[in-house]
Amino acid sequence: MWVLSTQKSNALLCDLHRLRGFVNDTMKHFNQNLLALKAYVPGRPIEDVAREIGVEPESVVKLASNENPLGVSPKALKAIKASVDEMFIYPDGAGLTLRHAIARRYNVELENVTLGNGSNEILELLGHGFLNPQSSLVYSAHSFASYEIIGMLFGAERLEIPMTKGLAHDLDAMADAIRPDTSMVIVCNPNNPTGTLLDQAALDRFMARVPEDVLVVFDEAYAELCQGEMPDTMKYIREGRFCAVLRTFSKAYGLAGLRIGYSISPKCVGAALERIRQAFNTNRLAQIAAVAALEDDEFVQNVRVVLAEGKAYLESECTRLGLEFIPTYTNFLLIRVGDSVAVFNALIKKGVIARAQKGAGLPEWIRVTIGRPEQNRAFIQALSEVMNLK
Ligand SMILES: *Cc1c(COP(=O)(O)O)cnc(C)c1O
Repeated sequence: MWVLSTQKSNALLCDLHRLRGFVNDTMKHFNQNLLALKAYVPGRPIEDVAREIGVEPESVVKLASNENPLGVSPKALKAIKASVDEMFIYPDGAGLTLRHAIARRYNVELENVTLGNGSNEILELLGHGFLNPQSSLVYSAHSFASYEIIGMLFGAERLEIPMTKGLAHDLDAMADAIRPDTSMVIVCNPNNPTGTLLDQAALDRFMARVPEDVLVVFDEAYAELCQGEMPDTMKYIREGRFCAVLRTFSKAYGLAGLRIGYSISPKCVGAALERIRQAFNTNRLAQIAAVAALEDDEFVQNVRVVLAEGKAYLESECTRLGLEFIPTYTNFLLIRVGDSVAVFNALIKKGVIARAQKGAGLPEWIRVTIGRPEQNRAFIQALSEVMNLK
């Protein structure tokens, strides 16, 4: 899969030339939409960095992928352990137990719930269903990288709308950008990577302006960890609006490695996604773990306490060090450091993995996941050394 691991379109074309002898003319059939596509660059794995700088993996602090500071939900872990030896059995293709549990939780019906291999897969399923070369997709600049990738993948025109000065979604400009060919608008809330939160009044105003036939996708990967009042977007579904709310077990419940997420949507959207998805798109252990995780309110509450303390610590340390940051409503903080790639690389040498935001169009900013107190201290220590701050 050399093509998909290539970072830049020019690099890809270059490879195409170099490999011409190998690929002959077969690449002329390659999906041309993908030539300009940048592959998603995930946070660097701990083992990889440990090898590079010659230390034990245990001493590396990874605050790059907004993973859970407390690990896996204990209830989920227990459920996984109790069912590992059932792995030879296919998953429940319809995911009934988990979908019923989610439906009960949000007071919706089974047909309103769709499971995905992470909520990221749901984005892709929505692309299959609602994006094509005759349509356009509206989303905000400085938001989750998948939106651009999915727009490109399905050949839709991408209308990427600049943010406000405070690095929040400009909902008015997004509503203004909607055209007759716009089939989908994606709103990430709280937003990754800026950590900003849109409130109920702002979303109500926005929804009043969006035409009824445009699918509004609310990506709420951080909803359960929101450090503010999370607006109720499920109410738009109850009101009969054409929208989908995306949630995940990756962040609040610590199941990122198992890949399980879901959407709540009108039944017509759910029915479309059921036709598109693979029969066994979510795996057996993930379904079992997620059912148990959904019951683990105590764990989520503990995570929220760690995050509130971490937010207070990191924000006050940034203030002390004279660093600009965007007050966060979730489990990561966006900090202005100047040359973010240089700072990212220097942090790596000190065994701290953060995330430069150049790819998100914010070359001066890094994003750090809020971790446990000792991880947050290690990050601040390393950052102040790297940037020569006292
Ligand atoms: C982490 C994240 C997701 C996807 O998570 P999955 O692991 O695929 O469920 C989706 N959207 C945003 C904004 C995220 O930060």
